[in-house]
Amino acid sequence: MNKLLGWMITSILLVGVVFCQSSSGPTGATPAVTVIRAGTLIDGKSDQPRRDQVIVVRGNRIESVSDAATAKMPAGATVIDLSKATVLPGLIDSHTHIFLQGENPAQGGYDANILTAPLALRSARATVSARRALEQGFTTLRDVETEGAGYGDVGIKQAIEAGYIPGPRLFVATRAISTTGGYPLEGYAPELEMPKGAQIVDGPVEARKAAREQLDHGADWIKVYMTHRSWVGKHGELVSQPTLTVEELRAIVDETHGWGKKVACHAYGGIGLHRALDGECDSIEHGLDLDDAAISQILKQGTWYVPTLSVYYTDWAPADTEAGQRDRLRAAVHEPSFKKALNAGVKIVFGTDMGGIPWTEPIAQEFSRMVEFGMSPMDAIQSATSRAAVMLDMEGKIGVVAPGAFADIIAVDADPLRDIKVLESVGFVMKDGKVFRSKGAPAD
Ligand SMILES: [Zn+2]
Repeated sequence: MNKLLGWMITSILLVGVVFCQSSSGPTGATPAVTVIRAGTLIDGKSDQPRRDQVIVVRGNRIESVSDAATAKMPAGATVIDLSKATVLPGLIDSHTHIFLQGENPAQGGYDANILTAPLALRSARATVSARRALEQGFTTLRDVETEGAGYGDVGIKQAIEAGYIPGPRLFVATRAISTTGGYPLEGYAPELEMPKGAQIVDGPVEARKAAREQLDHGADWIKVYMTHRSWVGKHGELVSQPTLTVEELRAIVDETHGWGKKVACHAYGGIGLHRALDGECDSIEHGLDLDDAAISQILKQGTWYVPTLSVYYTDWAPADTEAGQRDRLRAAVHEPSFKKALNAGVKIVFGTDMGGIPWTEPIAQEFSRMVEFGMSPMDAIQSATSRAAVMLDMEGKIGVVAPGAFADIIAVDADPLRDIKVLESVGFVMKDGKVFRSKGAPAD
């Protein structure tokens, strides 16, 4: 629970009904004007914070950002006083799964999601996940596949955009693509035709067709699994089973780029990672084991790196099991990979794998891990704001508090540059010009 914040908010619309109201009012009416007084502003792009700023929001856009001393206050504006707080752009998590719920083994794990949960139940739970993200100040998610829930993410996105449910801006990847032997459900009798958590393809023709289908049905990104199982190799190294060939991946990338969209590739290391780079994936997801050749290819091609650290540092299997050894090795290679990428200047973007992590946990925990491994707090914040916006082709529109951007604005009651953990206690959330949360209390 977040502690209550003592911010004085005047004339604010009632939280809880706000998300379904139009900030621009009835057609033809003058858009509502809101003034936010920011004690400290971290704008998402600048390397230095600014003190005592005034942000003018008109409708769903930021109109101006200026020093309080010289700012002109528009008449009749609603004033939100965050003069004791640190104000930031709405955060962006570029690797989530709103259709997953933590895969609790006691509740049947991953398989139960697909085998026993009706789609309506999964959609209801995804609705809650989306709301949790918004409550925590994440105003945009790139949700990288539904894990067997088909095109459910497109539906949730439509429900948010139409104002039926509260939630972040969603960039969705729909079903994801892997190969035969490259995705659960697994381990059942071979006579049974089991459903799979991703769309299975073999050969470039099927690969291209799957991309076309997914793009046709609303995918904003295409997600591809370039590695699947992983284990400890003969020499103590992390081995990852490769899935698609370069030829198969190229068909997907070529098709997707033709639609003006991008491809996110799950890849741990080894052959699959190198195929992902040779096939020109736009982003590498996880990238646990980056060798020097991979780092230089990533730099050369301008590939994005979404390391998703936290999920690999918790919930290890017991140390005396094969899975437990594998889990420990994954974490052991991930940290140096992240540090190498950071030092080399790779474009690192904040992503968590929420859904793999239960949605009841704080999304912002990933910031602490990034900072622990050597990233500066400002760099970590930019990885979840302006840098993520560039990856999403939304530069200047989200991930920044600046004129012309959508009014996605959050606040915390302490300095995240001093203690990044305060981002786990976001107390004020505005999305698209509408206050969703204030005074620490989420809408009910
Ligand atoms: Zn994931």
